[in-house]
Amino acid sequence: MEAHSGHSYPPALSSLESARLVQVVKDWTLGKGLAVRPPPTAVTAETELLGTLGMSAPVTLFPSPFPKVCFDQARSVQKAYNELYAKISQNETFISQIVADVAGGDDFIANLWAVHLRVKKEGYAQPLSLGLFRSDYMVHQDRGSAQDAHARPQIKQVEFNTIASSFGGLSTKISELHKFLALTEYPLLRDPSSHFTYDLPANESTRGLAAGIRSAFEAYGPSDLGFSTCVVFLVQRGERNVFDQRHLEYELQRQSAVPVFRLPFAEILTRTSIADSGRRQLLYRLPSNPERIFEVAVVYFRSGYGPADYAQPSDWDARYQIERSAAIKCPTVLTQLAGAKKVQQVLATPKSSSSPSELSKFIPEDAPQYQDVWQTFTNIYPMDGSEAGLAARKLATDPEQCQKYVLKPQREGGGNNFYRSAIPPYLKSIPESHWNSYILMELITPPPVTNVILRNGNLEKGGVICELGRYGACLWNQDTGDILYNEDAGYLLRTKGDQSEEGGVAAGFGCMDSCNLV
Ligand code: ADP
Ligand code: MG
Ligand code: MG
Repeated sequence: MEAHSGHSYPPALSSLESARLVQVVKDWTLGKGLAVRPPPTAVTAETELLGTLGMSAPVTLFPSPFPKVCFDQARSVQKAYNELYAKISQNETFISQIVADVAGGDDFIANLWAVHLRVKKEGYAQPLSLGLFRSDYMVHQDRGSAQDAHARPQIKQVEFNTIASSFGGLSTKISELHKFLALTEYPLLRDPSSHFTYDLPANESTRGLAAGIRSAFEAYGPSDLGFSTCVVFLVQRGERNVFDQRHLEYELQRQSAVPVFRLPFAEILTRTSIADSGRRQLLYRLPSNPERIFEVAVVYFRSGYGPADYAQPSDWDARYQIERSAAIKCPTVLTQLAGAKKVQQVLATPKSSSSPSELSKFIPEDAPQYQDVWQTFTNIYPMDGSEAGLAARKLATDPEQCQKYVLKPQREGGGNNFYRSAIPPYLKSIPESHWNSYILMELITPPPVTNVILRNGNLEKGGVICELGRYGACLWNQDTGDILYNEDAGYLLRTKGDQSEEGGVAAGFGCMDSCNLV
């Protein structure tokens, strides 16, 4: 990418310069906790016992250039998005329709819905609901005609996450790392292009997400039963991205202490119980001191978003126990379902001559937020038996047309999608009656950027694709619709090699990056 005064970006590095920069980055990432646990295969039996190893998270050596107009657009629409998804979560009829559309070919969604229905029967014990969201985007610029060359770049939404939106803890760190390098290291480089001015926005993701959790913790109030209240982070066993989660916990402790306990999803039923007081308080028994019981004010899910966490039938009982309890859930089952890709597809369906858009059921069409949100949508199609669905099935099964699309199931966590040529054979391999459970989305092709990725100690230089995430925190009352807290909560920039389809950092494809606004 040509940036700033016509010099190429990022600056060229001699081998000595690159060795120095790599050393500085390795030390900074470990010293400051921009780190992950090593993969089990990289750990010998001895060091595993000690449990003392961390490793640098994959990072870019330079902040990637990112259009300021797009950065501002994502920030300014986030609170409208928070409110939109809070409203969707309150609209059980809308979500039941979504579930009906996809559950036939998707047991996971069907099981989630069953948990909701079971709790609904006895009545929810907690009206408050917490969302720690992340709306993901790529930059889109129309190309082709001469007119398009001057078109303003804009963001198009990849997806909206309502559960376990990760990397907020590490994201603040990578922004700090790039600031540090811009101050101390880039000015030492010989390439004149290193003397660009860097426009590196502050990134409050750790503080913003922790503030959301704190707002729910405070809204829960003191225990009627005389226990101390606490926050539970529901985690996966063997989680490698543990420091990302710990940074949120440390931030929660920084202002005034909030007890935070990390509970593996598989241990919910052994470590927690429901009080028989009638109010269904969730009680947590400290494994290290079983006499100590805490009342759980907030359950923050960093697990439970995919089928792998529900290997045993009892894991569904565990989810049910959390859902029926009086703890404030981040998220509830309804909020988790609101994040389904099918919801995004339905929202992105334009109005027709006979019916208004689905989006207008949540945001009045004449409100300024309507256009702000609408402009972030790209084309997404159903794969059902409707007219639009039949047209999409044609595109998806055509060997040429399919090159412009990605096929998505109702899944989270990366590695679940089918791209381009892989779509037709995949569709052929599953019963046609299950196609409804997928959506077909136009691929967004952002302008090319070059950067250098440091991953597992190795440098990879080349074309990269950047994905911007904007965090939001929202606390609302499911019964009254009142919004008690609604804030933007910083950003994430994830970058992957342009040869890779998926960009998950945890999945091993992407890396942490920050924005250099241009
Ligand atoms: P998940 O919930 O598993 O993260 P995503 O919808 O975010 O699913 O897809 C995973 C990755 O696939 C994204 O991070 C992005 O790199 C790529 N991707 C998804 N949708 C698109 C799209 N419409 N255009 C380009 N890339 C996409
Ligand atoms: Mg997701
Ligand atoms: Mg994603």
